Amino acid sequence: MSLLITNIGELFTNDDLQPASDAAVVVDGERIAWVGPATEAPAADERIDAEGRAVLPGFVDSHAHLMFAGDRASEFAARMAGEPYTGGGIRTTVGATRSASDEELRRNARRLVGEALRQGTTTLEIKSGYGLNVPDEARSLRIAAEFTGETTFLGAHVVPAEFADRPDEYVALVSGPMLAAAAPHAKWVDVFVERGAFDEDQARTILTAGIRAGLGVRVHGNQLGPGPGVQLAVELGAASVDHCTHLSDVDVAALAGQGGTVATLLPGAEFSTRSPYPDARRLLDAGVTVALATDCNPGSSYTSSMAFCIALAVREMRMTPSEAVRAATLGGARALRRDDLGRIGVGARADLLILDAPSHLHLAYRPGVPLIRTVISNGVPQ
Ligand SMILES: [Zn+2]
Repeated sequence: MSLLITNIGELFTNDDLQPASDAAVVVDGERIAWVGPATEAPAADERIDAEGRAVLPGFVDSHAHLMFAGDRASEFAARMAGEPYTGGGIRTTVGATRSASDEELRRNARRLVGEALRQGTTTLEIKSGYGLNVPDEARSLRIAAEFTGETTFLGAHVVPAEFADRPDEYVALVSGPMLAAAAPHAKWVDVFVERGAFDEDQARTILTAGIRAGLGVRVHGNQLGPGPGVQLAVELGAASVDHCTHLSDVDVAALAGQGGTVATLLPGAEFSTRSPYPDARRLLDAGVTVALATDCNPGSSYTSSMAFCIALAVREMRMTPSEAVRAATLGGARALRRDDLGRIGVGARADLLILDAPSHLHLAYRPGVPLIRTVISNGVPQ
Protein backbone atom coordinates (compact mmCIF):
# COMPACT_ATOMS: atom_id res chain seq x y z
CA MET A 1 0.00 0.00 0.00
CA SER A 2 1.23 3.52 -0.81
CA LEU A 3 0.49 6.64 1.20
CA LEU A 4 0.85 10.29 0.14
CA ILE A 5 1.40 12.92 2.83
CA THR A 6 0.84 16.27 1.23
CA ASN A 7 0.43 19.94 2.10
CA ILE A 8 3.36 19.72 4.54
CA GLY A 9 4.13 23.17 5.94
CA GLU A 10 7.70 22.28 6.94
CA LEU A 11 9.54 19.06 6.07
CA PHE A 12 12.48 18.44 8.40
CA THR A 13 14.36 15.76 6.47
CA ASN A 14 17.84 15.77 8.06
CA ASP A 15 19.07 15.34 4.47
CA ASP A 16 19.09 19.10 3.83
CA LEU A 17 20.14 21.89 6.14
CA GLN A 18 16.99 23.93 5.59
CA PRO A 19 13.54 22.44 6.15
CA ALA A 20 11.51 22.41 2.93
CA SER A 21 8.09 24.08 2.71
CA ASP A 22 5.02 23.00 0.71
CA ALA A 23 6.45 19.51 0.43
CA ALA A 24 5.04 16.01 0.05
CA VAL A 25 6.24 12.52 0.90
CA VAL A 26 5.15 9.19 -0.57
CA VAL A 27 5.48 6.03 1.48
CA ASP A 28 5.38 2.65 -0.25
CA GLY A 29 5.07 -0.23 2.19
CA GLU A 30 7.66 0.19 4.91
CA ARG A 31 9.89 2.61 2.96
CA ILE A 32 9.90 6.22 1.85
CA ALA A 33 9.52 6.15 -1.95
CA TRP A 34 9.41 9.81 -2.98
CA VAL A 35 10.11 13.29 -1.49
CA GLY A 36 9.52 16.56 -3.29
CA PRO A 37 7.27 19.57 -3.92
CA ALA A 38 3.59 18.90 -3.26
CA THR A 39 2.66 20.10 -6.76
CA GLU A 40 4.72 17.29 -8.33
CA ALA A 41 3.66 14.47 -6.02
CA PRO A 42 2.72 11.16 -7.65
CA ALA A 43 -0.59 9.47 -6.90
CA ALA A 44 -0.90 6.97 -4.06
CA ASP A 45 -3.50 4.57 -2.65
CA GLU A 46 -4.18 6.77 0.37
CA ARG A 47 -3.63 10.41 1.24
CA ILE A 48 -3.05 12.42 4.41
CA ASP A 49 -3.43 16.20 4.22
CA ALA A 50 -0.97 17.67 6.75
CA GLU A 51 -2.77 21.04 6.48
CA GLY A 52 0.42 23.05 6.70
CA ARG A 53 1.87 21.23 9.71
CA ALA A 54 5.48 20.19 10.25
CA VAL A 55 6.62 16.66 9.39
CA LEU A 56 9.83 15.15 10.74
CA PRO A 57 11.42 11.72 11.15
CA GLY A 58 10.24 9.54 14.04
CA PHE A 59 12.38 9.90 17.16
CA VAL A 60 15.16 7.35 17.63
CA ASP A 61 15.60 6.75 21.37
CA SER A 62 18.96 4.98 21.47
CA HIS A 63 19.19 4.55 25.26
CA ALA A 64 16.41 3.10 27.42
CA HIS A 65 16.22 0.64 30.30
CA LEU A 66 12.75 -0.87 30.03
CA MET A 67 13.26 -4.37 31.43
CA PHE A 68 12.36 -3.86 35.07
CA ALA A 69 9.59 -4.16 37.63
CA GLY A 70 8.44 -1.71 40.28
CA ASP A 71 9.17 2.00 40.55
CA ARG A 72 11.24 4.29 42.75
CA ALA A 73 9.02 7.34 43.12
CA SER A 74 9.83 7.65 46.82
CA GLU A 75 13.58 7.63 46.07
CA PHE A 76 12.95 10.46 43.59
CA ALA A 77 11.01 12.41 46.20
CA ALA A 78 13.79 11.93 48.75
CA ARG A 79 16.36 13.12 46.23
CA MET A 80 14.32 16.21 45.48
CA ALA A 81 14.27 16.80 49.23
CA GLY A 82 18.08 16.85 49.24
CA GLU A 83 19.51 13.33 49.20
CA PRO A 84 22.29 12.83 46.59
CA TYR A 85 22.10 10.34 43.69
CA THR A 86 24.63 7.53 43.98
CA GLY A 87 23.31 4.84 41.65
CA GLY A 88 22.83 2.49 44.61
CA GLY A 89 19.06 2.41 44.10
CA ILE A 90 19.62 0.20 41.04
CA ARG A 91 19.76 -2.74 43.47
CA THR A 92 16.19 -1.98 44.61
CA THR A 93 14.99 -2.48 41.05
CA VAL A 94 17.11 -5.63 40.70
CA GLY A 95 15.19 -7.20 43.58
CA ALA A 96 11.81 -6.31 42.10
CA THR A 97 12.84 -7.49 38.63
CA ARG A 98 14.11 -10.87 39.81
CA SER A 99 10.80 -11.42 41.63
CA ALA A 100 8.63 -10.52 38.62
CA SER A 101 7.14 -13.04 36.25
CA ASP A 102 7.92 -12.98 32.53
CA GLU A 103 4.43 -11.64 31.92
CA GLU A 104 4.90 -8.79 34.41
CA LEU A 105 8.15 -7.76 32.71
CA ARG A 106 6.53 -8.02 29.29
CA ARG A 107 3.49 -5.99 30.34
CA ASN A 108 5.63 -3.20 31.80
CA ALA A 109 7.83 -3.03 28.70
CA ARG A 110 4.77 -3.03 26.43
CA ARG A 111 3.25 -0.16 28.41
CA LEU A 112 6.42 1.93 28.08
CA VAL A 113 6.98 1.11 24.39
CA GLY A 114 3.38 2.19 23.70
CA GLU A 115 3.80 5.33 25.78
CA ALA A 116 6.97 6.21 23.81
CA LEU A 117 5.32 5.49 20.45
CA ARG A 118 2.41 7.80 21.21
CA GLN A 119 5.02 10.51 21.89
CA GLY A 120 6.73 9.94 18.56
CA THR A 121 9.43 7.38 19.31
CA THR A 122 9.47 4.92 16.42
CA THR A 123 12.75 3.20 17.31
CA LEU A 124 13.74 2.27 20.83
CA GLU A 125 16.87 0.60 22.15
CA ILE A 126 16.19 -1.57 25.20
CA LYS A 127 18.82 -2.67 27.71
CA SER A 128 18.83 -5.45 30.25
CA GLY A 129 20.64 -4.71 33.50
CA TYR A 130 18.19 -5.33 36.32
CA GLY A 131 18.56 -9.11 36.36
CA LEU A 132 22.30 -9.32 37.07
CA ASN A 133 22.31 -13.11 37.11
CA VAL A 134 22.36 -15.53 34.18
CA PRO A 135 18.66 -16.45 33.96
CA ASP A 136 17.27 -12.96 34.64
CA GLU A 137 19.60 -11.21 32.19
CA ALA A 138 18.84 -13.79 29.49
CA ARG A 139 15.07 -13.56 29.93
CA SER A 140 15.19 -9.74 30.05
CA LEU A 141 16.81 -9.73 26.61
CA ARG A 142 14.56 -12.45 25.25
CA ILE A 143 11.51 -10.37 26.20
CA ALA A 144 13.13 -7.10 25.02
CA ALA A 145 13.68 -8.68 21.60
CA GLU A 146 9.89 -9.03 21.29
CA PHE A 147 9.77 -5.21 21.07
CA THR A 148 12.95 -4.13 19.25
CA GLY A 149 15.92 -5.38 17.27
CA GLU A 150 18.11 -2.93 19.21
CA THR A 151 18.69 -4.97 22.37
CA THR A 152 21.65 -4.36 24.67
CA PHE A 153 23.20 -6.69 27.24
CA LEU A 154 23.98 -4.64 30.36
CA GLY A 155 24.89 -7.35 32.86
CA ALA A 156 27.59 -4.88 33.93
CA HIS A 157 25.15 -2.28 35.24
CA VAL A 158 26.28 -2.58 38.88
CA VAL A 159 27.85 -5.38 40.90
CA PRO A 160 24.89 -7.12 42.57
CA ALA A 161 24.82 -7.33 46.38
CA GLU A 162 25.75 -11.01 46.49
CA PHE A 163 29.04 -10.25 44.71
CA ALA A 164 29.79 -7.01 46.62
CA ASP A 165 33.03 -8.32 48.14
CA ARG A 166 34.21 -10.21 45.04
CA PRO A 167 33.58 -7.96 42.05
CA ASP A 168 36.16 -9.70 39.84
CA GLU A 169 34.19 -12.94 40.14
CA TYR A 170 31.15 -11.01 38.91
CA VAL A 171 33.14 -9.66 35.95
CA ALA A 172 34.10 -13.25 35.07
CA LEU A 173 30.46 -14.30 35.30
CA VAL A 174 29.30 -11.41 33.08
CA SER A 175 31.98 -11.97 30.44
CA GLY A 176 31.55 -15.77 30.54
CA PRO A 177 28.30 -17.65 31.19
CA MET A 178 26.04 -14.57 31.38
CA LEU A 179 27.28 -13.23 28.04
CA ALA A 180 26.85 -16.67 26.48
CA ALA A 181 23.22 -16.81 27.62
CA ALA A 182 22.51 -13.19 26.64
CA ALA A 183 24.25 -12.95 23.27
CA PRO A 184 21.62 -14.86 21.24
CA HIS A 185 19.06 -12.18 22.21
CA ALA A 186 21.35 -9.10 22.07
CA LYS A 187 22.81 -6.86 19.39
CA TRP A 188 24.94 -4.76 21.73
CA VAL A 189 27.01 -5.03 24.93
CA ASP A 190 27.24 -2.12 27.37
CA VAL A 191 29.06 -1.41 30.66
CA PHE A 192 28.43 1.26 33.30
CA VAL A 193 31.98 2.64 33.61
CA GLU A 194 31.83 4.73 36.76
CA ARG A 195 33.20 4.89 40.26
CA GLY A 196 30.98 2.51 42.26
CA ALA A 197 30.19 0.44 39.17
CA PHE A 198 32.98 -0.92 36.90
CA ASP A 199 36.53 0.34 36.39
CA GLU A 200 38.44 0.55 33.13
CA ASP A 201 40.06 -2.91 33.26
CA GLN A 202 36.82 -4.63 34.25
CA ALA A 203 34.95 -2.82 31.49
CA ARG A 204 37.58 -3.71 28.89
CA THR A 205 37.34 -7.39 29.87
CA ILE A 206 33.55 -7.42 29.47
CA LEU A 207 33.40 -5.33 26.30
CA THR A 208 36.10 -7.31 24.49
CA ALA A 209 34.31 -10.54 25.43
CA GLY A 210 31.16 -9.02 23.96
CA ILE A 211 32.99 -8.14 20.73
CA ARG A 212 34.24 -11.74 20.47
CA ALA A 213 30.63 -12.90 20.89
CA GLY A 214 29.65 -10.76 17.89
CA LEU A 215 28.08 -7.83 19.74
CA GLY A 216 28.54 -4.11 19.04
CA VAL A 217 29.81 -1.88 21.84
CA ARG A 218 28.03 0.87 23.78
CA VAL A 219 29.32 2.46 27.00
CA HIS A 220 27.84 4.38 29.93
CA GLY A 221 30.64 6.83 30.71
CA ASN A 222 31.59 10.07 32.45
CA GLN A 223 28.18 10.57 34.07
CA LEU A 224 28.91 11.21 37.73
CA GLY A 225 32.49 12.42 37.34
CA PRO A 226 35.54 12.35 35.06
CA GLY A 227 36.64 8.85 34.10
CA PRO A 228 37.97 6.47 31.46
CA GLY A 229 34.62 5.65 29.82
CA VAL A 230 34.87 7.93 26.79
CA GLN A 231 38.39 6.96 25.85
CA LEU A 232 37.72 3.27 26.33
CA ALA A 233 34.63 3.58 24.12
CA VAL A 234 36.62 5.27 21.36
CA GLU A 235 39.48 2.76 21.71
CA LEU A 236 37.06 -0.16 21.26
CA GLY A 237 35.17 1.43 18.36
CA ALA A 238 31.92 1.82 20.32
CA ALA A 239 28.90 3.04 18.40
CA SER A 240 28.10 5.39 21.27
CA VAL A 241 29.27 6.56 24.67
CA ASP A 242 26.38 7.77 26.74
CA HIS A 243 26.03 10.53 29.37
CA CYS A 244 29.32 12.43 28.64
CA THR A 245 28.59 14.91 31.42
CA HIS A 246 32.16 15.27 32.73
CA LEU A 247 34.60 15.48 29.82
CA SER A 248 38.25 16.54 29.55
CA ASP A 249 39.62 18.24 26.44
CA VAL A 250 41.28 14.91 25.57
CA ASP A 251 37.87 13.18 25.77
CA VAL A 252 36.31 15.74 23.44
CA ALA A 253 39.21 15.42 20.98
CA ALA A 254 38.87 11.63 21.01
CA LEU A 255 35.16 11.89 20.22
CA ALA A 256 35.88 14.36 17.42
CA GLY A 257 38.26 11.88 15.78
CA GLN A 258 37.46 9.53 12.94
CA GLY A 259 36.26 6.59 15.04
CA GLY A 260 32.58 7.36 14.62
CA THR A 261 31.70 7.05 18.31
CA VAL A 262 28.61 9.17 18.97
CA ALA A 263 28.24 11.17 22.20
CA THR A 264 24.74 10.40 23.46
CA LEU A 265 23.45 12.95 25.94
CA LEU A 266 20.70 12.03 28.41
CA PRO A 267 19.41 15.26 29.97
CA GLY A 268 16.51 13.46 31.65
CA ALA A 269 19.08 11.98 34.01
CA GLU A 270 20.49 15.36 35.00
CA PHE A 271 16.96 16.69 35.41
CA SER A 272 15.88 13.78 37.61
CA THR A 273 19.03 13.74 39.73
CA ARG A 274 19.32 17.54 39.88
CA SER A 275 22.85 17.37 38.47
CA PRO A 276 24.83 19.67 36.17
CA TYR A 277 24.01 19.10 32.48
CA PRO A 278 26.57 18.07 29.86
CA ASP A 279 27.82 20.84 27.57
CA ALA A 280 26.45 19.91 24.15
CA ARG A 281 27.72 23.16 22.63
CA ARG A 282 31.33 22.20 23.39
CA LEU A 283 30.85 18.83 21.66
CA LEU A 284 29.05 20.25 18.62
CA ASP A 285 31.62 23.01 18.17
CA ALA A 286 34.37 20.36 18.21
CA GLY A 287 32.59 18.43 15.43
CA VAL A 288 31.35 15.53 17.57
CA THR A 289 28.17 13.72 16.48
CA VAL A 290 25.64 14.16 19.28
CA ALA A 291 22.54 12.08 20.00
CA LEU A 292 19.78 12.74 22.49
CA ALA A 293 18.01 9.89 24.28
CA THR A 294 15.75 9.48 27.28
CA ASP A 295 17.69 7.00 29.48
CA CYS A 296 14.17 5.92 30.48
CA ASN A 297 14.58 3.93 33.72
CA PRO A 298 12.79 3.84 37.07
CA GLY A 299 15.62 5.40 39.08
CA SER A 300 17.42 8.29 37.46
CA SER A 301 15.23 9.32 34.48
CA TYR A 302 11.70 7.98 34.37
CA THR A 303 10.64 9.79 31.21
CA SER A 304 9.87 8.29 27.80
CA SER A 305 9.47 11.72 26.20
CA MET A 306 12.01 12.64 23.53
CA ALA A 307 10.30 16.02 23.18
CA PHE A 308 11.05 16.72 26.85
CA CYS A 309 14.72 15.82 26.24
CA ILE A 310 14.79 18.18 23.23
CA ALA A 311 13.42 21.01 25.36
CA LEU A 312 16.00 20.34 28.10
CA ALA A 313 18.82 20.18 25.55
CA VAL A 314 17.87 23.57 24.17
CA ARG A 315 17.26 25.24 27.52
CA GLU A 316 20.10 23.68 29.53
CA MET A 317 22.73 22.35 27.11
CA ARG A 318 23.09 25.19 24.61
CA MET A 319 21.77 23.30 21.61
CA THR A 320 19.70 25.13 19.01
CA PRO A 321 16.20 23.69 18.49
CA SER A 322 17.26 22.36 15.07
CA GLU A 323 20.36 20.69 16.49
CA ALA A 324 18.31 19.09 19.25
CA VAL A 325 15.70 17.68 16.85
CA ARG A 326 18.47 16.40 14.60
CA ALA A 327 20.18 14.75 17.60
CA ALA A 328 16.89 13.10 18.64
CA THR A 329 16.40 11.63 15.17
CA LEU A 330 19.51 11.32 12.97
CA GLY A 331 21.82 11.39 16.01
CA GLY A 332 20.01 8.43 17.54
CA ALA A 333 20.21 6.58 14.25
CA ARG A 334 23.98 7.15 14.12
CA ALA A 335 24.29 5.97 17.71
CA LEU A 336 22.68 2.71 16.61
CA ARG A 337 24.70 2.62 13.35
CA ARG A 338 21.46 2.62 11.35
CA ASP A 339 21.45 4.53 8.06
CA ASP A 340 17.79 3.70 7.34
CA LEU A 341 16.47 5.70 10.33
CA GLY A 342 16.33 9.31 11.48
CA ARG A 343 15.92 10.92 8.06
CA ILE A 344 13.27 11.49 5.44
CA GLY A 345 14.79 10.35 2.16
CA VAL A 346 14.08 7.75 -0.50
CA GLY A 347 14.81 4.28 0.86
CA ALA A 348 14.65 5.24 4.53
CA ARG A 349 12.22 3.43 6.80
CA ALA A 350 8.83 5.13 6.75
CA ASP A 351 8.86 6.45 10.34
CA LEU A 352 7.32 9.92 10.30
CA LEU A 353 5.73 12.36 12.70
CA ILE A 354 3.15 15.02 11.90
CA LEU A 355 3.25 17.73 14.57
CA ASP A 356 0.36 19.77 15.80
CA ALA A 357 2.55 22.76 14.96
CA PRO A 358 3.85 24.55 11.87
CA SER A 359 7.54 24.02 12.70
CA HIS A 360 9.93 21.67 14.52
CA LEU A 361 10.93 24.70 16.62
CA HIS A 362 7.75 24.23 18.63
CA LEU A 363 9.09 21.03 20.21
CA ALA A 364 11.41 23.13 22.37
CA TYR A 365 9.35 26.33 22.27
CA ARG A 366 6.25 24.64 23.75
CA PRO A 367 7.68 22.27 26.39
CA GLY A 368 5.34 19.77 27.99
CA VAL A 369 2.67 20.20 25.31
CA PRO A 370 1.59 17.05 23.41
CA LEU A 371 2.48 18.17 19.87
CA ILE A 372 2.68 14.73 18.23
CA ARG A 373 -0.48 14.63 16.14
CA THR A 374 0.18 11.57 13.95
CA VAL A 375 2.81 8.84 14.21
CA ILE A 376 3.58 6.73 11.13
CA SER A 377 5.64 3.70 12.10
CA ASN A 378 7.04 1.38 9.44
CA GLY A 379 4.64 2.93 6.94
CA VAL A 380 1.57 2.45 9.12
CA PRO A 381 -0.31 5.39 10.69
CA GLN A 382 -0.80 4.52 14.37
ZN1 LIG B 1 21.49 4.28 31.12
